[in-house]
Amino acid sequence: MSNNFETKKRYGTCSKDCYGSCVFIGEWNDQAPEKKLLAAKPLKEHPFTNGFFCPKLNNREKLLYHPERIKTALIRSGSKGSNSFTSVSIEEALNLISTQLTTVKEKYKSSSIVVAYYAGNTGLISMYSPFRFFLKLGATITSEGTCNEAGCFALGRMFGNYSTTNPFQIANPNNRLIVVWGSNLADRNNHAHFLVKKAIKNGSKLIVVNPVRTKLAESADMFLQPYPGTDFLIAKYVLNKIVSLGANDEQFISQYVDNYTNLVDEVKKIDEDKIFHQTGLIRKNLTEFINLLIDNKQRTLFIVGFGPQKYFYGGRNLNSIALIQIFLGNFGHQGAGFLFSQSGFNQDFKRPLIDYLTMSDSTSQNKRIPLINLGSSLSSNKYKMLFVYNVNPMSSLPNQNILEKSLLREDLYTVVLDMFLNETTKFADIVIPVKFDLETDDLMTPYFVPGISINQGGPCPYPECSSNYEFFQRLAEKIGWQDDSIFQETQKDIFKNCCELLPKSIQEPLRTKGYYIPFDINYVPYNDLIFPTSNGKIQIHQTDIEIFDQNLDLVLKRKDDEFYLLSQSHKYFIHSQMGEIHGEFESVFGKIFLNPYDIESIGLKPHEKVLVSNKFGEAKYILEENSDLKPGTALIYSGLPFTDSDYKNVNIFTPETSEESRRSGAYFSTIVKITKI
Ligand code: SF4
Repeated sequence: MSNNFETKKRYGTCSKDCYGSCVFIGEWNDQAPEKKLLAAKPLKEHPFTNGFFCPKLNNREKLLYHPERIKTALIRSGSKGSNSFTSVSIEEALNLISTQLTTVKEKYKSSSIVVAYYAGNTGLISMYSPFRFFLKLGATITSEGTCNEAGCFALGRMFGNYSTTNPFQIANPNNRLIVVWGSNLADRNNHAHFLVKKAIKNGSKLIVVNPVRTKLAESADMFLQPYPGTDFLIAKYVLNKIVSLGANDEQFISQYVDNYTNLVDEVKKIDEDKIFHQTGLIRKNLTEFINLLIDNKQRTLFIVGFGPQKYFYGGRNLNSIALIQIFLGNFGHQGAGFLFSQSGFNQDFKRPLIDYLTMSDSTSQNKRIPLINLGSSLSSNKYKMLFVYNVNPMSSLPNQNILEKSLLREDLYTVVLDMFLNETTKFADIVIPVKFDLETDDLMTPYFVPGISINQGGPCPYPECSSNYEFFQRLAEKIGWQDDSIFQETQKDIFKNCCELLPKSIQEPLRTKGYYIPFDINYVPYNDLIFPTSNGKIQIHQTDIEIFDQNLDLVLKRKDDEFYLLSQSHKYFIHSQMGEIHGEFESVFGKIFLNPYDIESIGLKPHEKVLVSNKFGEAKYILEENSDLKPGTALIYSGLPFTDSDYKNVNIFTPETSEESRRSGAYFSTIVKITKI
């Protein structure tokens, strides 16, 4: 059968909050009544996408035209939390919202209107263009985030950037040793996993440090399984031995590191037995680790995940790990360095885009509340209206009981923009249907790949759906701002203007390949060992030195029937997303996993129902064995993405207290008790 339509090709970038930011070619039939996207093919020539997606999202047509996608606006018809809605036209929804907004604005201050957003769609236009509306309104806007912000802050203070090299260096032939610390690459970052496997084939050795035996640990030359949150203690021990063996790169440290003298002195004092006890590691394994590091100086690369910074002292954990590379002088060489986030390499060209998208200026004085503290902030009745876009707070934010109580407030009018009903829409007064990333023009600045890529939006078959920008543009018109110049552009105009704001050297590859990467894959950033700090040297801060104080006890204490709680996302989900296409895994969210040794030692049996509790909440789960977990550690998968589920979200147990820099969450600084029902 021959096709009697012309296939249209468009570049696309996966907008999920994921390490991959996969770049692909979408093939479209614009004339089709509904299923217009025919296929999305990952680019082979992109050096990170490398021609493959992940199992989470290798079928985006299924998500795009899913029968449960919201296609009309919905208005609440039952009590909050009951998930009862009636369809209304988008016009009617806009009228209702604008009336409510005008009333709240007149009766209370504009700051009583809150907007919560995050990276549910990482497109810059999707994330930042609604700021035009909310900055002008004077609304309260959430700040910071839930993810890697604490780590970026800590590393930024140390190196002036969040990584000292790029992911292509993983497979550089000069590399001899890769240390994957606190990252489950196979499930969360499959493209880096592919590069690590390539490096192993090239002869690199691999060390995995993780409280969970990850798939990559099977290929490792060495696997260290510490208790969660004890990363800084491992680093203390390693640094102490490096110094006592005289293996520190004295020349590198004295020339390129500021304020290091006190640190070297402090490193000499450690309580070894306490470290073995608190980390759960033994001398023999740590000695082997140190020997491998010393044998592979200048050819060792650290890949550090976001897990180690999800503690109250998460930034210090990362700084301590980075000190190992600093003491060994592992910078400026091919196949060496420290990899965390690549966002720092995008700042120069990203900043002007954000300024243009938000139309912010020095007079924009909006009140901000940290996203992590949304629940307790909204418990104050000074807030009267809430807009939510690009985030699912009732799944992703900590201390869910407080948040739920706040969202149940009858005097808080909530508007949620989303593609599907979810845990948060249950509490909405109005739900607005939005377009998928593939249906809007946008630009993405990935966080594990340096550079920028684009999404050339294809047609959306559902006329009531809009992009975030289009929705707030229409709302601006409704409340009488129709003549304001900042709401005149279409999304296509904004996309075009963003592209034109980029340097010419970036515009050309975006047009011809869909992506731009600032380096050749063999380029080593900071090969002159001048770092982007105030004086070009790596900066050591007082907190990096304090961490060696023996009286500083940061690790949470647990009793025999208590467990450190990990809440990583399941391999088929990105926290609160993908429920619609991976529904068969729903029951996994109703389980708590323990090492079989722990199940036996607390006198319980696999598959029995248990009560899990801590000071934040309690819920019943089915107990399951997972011998990949360190004894003493429990796992409940994060991001329950189903609207009506019998299971409780793990975030009922996580603390709202943020990491000490106040930039993101301390999700893993929590302990739960498990008891028989
Ligand atoms: S979810 Fe991540 S790995 Fe999967 S397709 Fe999207 S960017 Fe790529």
